[in-house]
Amino acid sequence: MWDQRAQRARLLAERYQASREILVFYGGLASWQGRIAARDLDSMKCFFPSLLELVIRTGPADLADAARKLDSTQFDQIVHNYWDAPGVFSELEFFARALLQPYASSFPEGLDCPWCRQPPQVGCLHPQGDGLAFTIVCPLCLRRRAFPRTRCPGCDESSEKKLANYSTPEFPHLRLQACDTCRGYLMIVDLSSDPAAIPEVDELAGLPLDLWAIQEGFHKLQPNLAGI
Ligand SMILES: [Zn+2]
Ligand SMILES: [Zn+2]
Repeated sequence: MWDQRAQRARLLAERYQASREILVFYGGLASWQGRIAARDLDSMKCFFPSLLELVIRTGPADLADAARKLDSTQFDQIVHNYWDAPGVFSELEFFARALLQPYASSFPEGLDCPWCRQPPQVGCLHPQGDGLAFTIVCPLCLRRRAFPRTRCPGCDESSEKKLANYSTPEFPHLRLQACDTCRGYLMIVDLSSDPAAIPEVDELAGLPLDLWAIQEGFHKLQPNLAGI
């Protein structure tokens, strides 16, 4: 799956100039995550230096700066803070998530990770029978679970009048669900429009939609690895 994510990111980077930089970076990161998958937490400590090196070499300037200030001795603090206090924002969140995603995604079916009950990274519509089924994607383990289509995953608002969908011809398989009650928004990837899409990757390509929503006064329910 990590290789598929990396390939998808590289393909989208060719397609969408505006989000090219972050997609190329994510492609390299997903390949790296694939190499460290299926290990326990303690044995992942030895991969921390290679993550810092990757970010310094290929990451956006602010992340590269943060990586230069970190060293292996901070692994426990960064990783355990993120694991033990889900939902609390930290500027080092990127490093914890990059390291922990391969670990959490290998959990057996039915065992939640600490972030499964937090607001989702992205939503996903996929064909089922004659209609579309809706799932939401956990920001850490990246597993999908069913969720009511017409409810805000940020505040549980379900009034049709309060929830609006926005889309643009530039991204035919992406849309935003924005909630007037909590002013949060969720990116939704429609697999009926592009069956090859991978929600947590295609969501990164929708950067121009994010910027529009933020300009309109909404906030993303869950920032992605790019911090948006
Ligand atoms: Zn999870
Ligand atoms: Zn809401």
